Amino acid sequence: MTARTLTGKCFCGAVQYAVADAFTYALNCHCSNCRRTTGSAFKPFAGITRIQFAVTSGRDNLLIHGEEKTHDAHCSVCGSLLYSVVRDGVYVHVAMGTLVDTPTIRPTAHIFVGSKAPWFAITDDLPQYREHVTD
Ligand SMILES: [Zn+2]
Ligand SMILES: [Zn+2]
Repeated sequence: MTARTLTGKCFCGAVQYAVADAFTYALNCHCSNCRRTTGSAFKPFAGITRIQFAVTSGRDNLLIHGEEKTHDAHCSVCGSLLYSVVRDGVYVHVAMGTLVDTPTIRPTAHIFVGSKAPWFAITDDLPQYREHVTD
């Protein structure tokens, strides 16, 4: 069975991507890096293997912050954080706010709540973890 394809783009539209609607996890990360790269209280992101993700337009407009196998990818025109390459280059964490289409998955937990912004209150009932999800 082939998953539906979702599209996403940055604020200005210079960078566009396609990703299978087959994310294996989705989380809200409250770490200071995610807060700063997005300018938000937390970053909802969804993880998928890198081969199920592709930049479809504006590859030349990517601003890569980091290394080949671990980096944040922004649009160099408008600055949007689109996705991060993580886990030794095997996974992509899509910044869910850049999706155009609605994914099937929903964030299932809050992570790095230990470094949450003190001015933000979590008001839902999702599990909270001090750092990464632990079983
Ligand atoms: Zn842009
Ligand atoms: Zn984070």
